[in-house]
Amino acid sequence: MNQLIHQPTKPSRLESQLIEQLWELQPLREQQLIELVEINSSSLNPEGINRTGEYLEALFTPLSDRCERITLSPWERLDFDGRLLKQPLGDLWRYRCRTEAPIQILLCGHLDTVFPKNSPFQCISRITPTCLNGPGAADMKGGILVILSALSLLEKHPEHHKIGWTLLLNPDEEIGSPGSAPLLQKEAVKHHIGLVYEPTLPDQNLAGARKGSGNFTCAVHGRAAHAGREPEKGRNAINKAAEILLDLAQFNHLRPGLTLNTGMIQGGETTNKVPDLAVFKFNIRIAQPEDAQWCQQKLNHLIKAANQQDGYNVTLHGGFGRLPKQLDPVHLSLYQYLQQCALHLGRKVHWQATGGCCDGNNLSAAGLPNIDTLGVHGNFIHSADEIIELPSLTQQAQLSALLLFKIAQQGLPTGISQRESREARR
Ligand SMILES: [Zn+2]
Repeated sequence: MNQLIHQPTKPSRLESQLIEQLWELQPLREQQLIELVEINSSSLNPEGINRTGEYLEALFTPLSDRCERITLSPWERLDFDGRLLKQPLGDLWRYRCRTEAPIQILLCGHLDTVFPKNSPFQCISRITPTCLNGPGAADMKGGILVILSALSLLEKHPEHHKIGWTLLLNPDEEIGSPGSAPLLQKEAVKHHIGLVYEPTLPDQNLAGARKGSGNFTCAVHGRAAHAGREPEKGRNAINKAAEILLDLAQFNHLRPGLTLNTGMIQGGETTNKVPDLAVFKFNIRIAQPEDAQWCQQKLNHLIKAANQQDGYNVTLHGGFGRLPKQLDPVHLSLYQYLQQCALHLGRKVHWQATGGCCDGNNLSAAGLPNIDTLGVHGNFIHSADEIIELPSLTQQAQLSALLLFKIAQQGLPTGISQRESREARR
């Protein structure tokens, strides 16, 4: 936890009025949230993602100078038959406004959710008058509506011309942004700060430092044989996979903060056949950026050793899609700016490290200081108990709007304003 609150400058009368008037939009935002949550937009449902993007296009286009719909390359992954699958992704929407302004802000939201089309969790239910349960309500359909309200307030501010912005709505965050990562990186270097609208932590605080994450699939090919007549001719892929898995389990805590979790495994067909294929999937979390290379080398070594044994062919697919996000002084000055804005709303925000990752990791790896939990208040995300606290649709938009007003009037936080100009960073 960090407490670096400085004396804030008070918002002007107009700013206070704008912030207060936002409550008038609350019933509309709740209705829009319900309509958005009713569209299934699992990362693996491009059709639903595109419908979500189209719904939002009607809302964001009037605020922006330019809207582009971008097709992404498919997501390549190994399936449990050891074959390379090309999973089509939904489209990415990019909105731009005032690219000529001296300060450029990148806002990010994701259209996808973790709930597949056939998940029993598809509907909304009201838990209390101010709390809804629904798939993706907090993560992050509510967050996208927070962006909408915050940007609409910025456009009413007399000094909005000082801020230009780009909004990316990507379709693949929940699967590690495999298709949108190159675009996130490209946009990150064109902007001064990033604002990402993941829900806040359950205690309404912000995520600070984040671990990095790598997803891997290992396919072990052996040789099939009759288990009774000539087992010696077989090469048991499951046994070999088990050997590799035991070695992988040893990775845990070899470096500070490093964890490895094998999450899925499949192999074999019947008990009287020596299995010729076993496939397993694992995730590695790292706290230090240099550990990505360290892990990759160790994995390569392990796979090479497994391949040296007669009759086996072992392949590894995947990599570190997200590097750790570390809170350097530049990030801290941005977080402090937000704390000052929160004080005007009678709130104190803090931040804490988390093992989870998001697109904030990608922006940070590309050198863009960012805050990545500016979305709604909620809880139990990625489960059928996911809830959103409805007033936070307005409260969190007020917080973001105050941050944008402050930046328009006072410029960027220390450290960020001293960095090279946006043009120089292109
Ligand atoms: Zn999310």
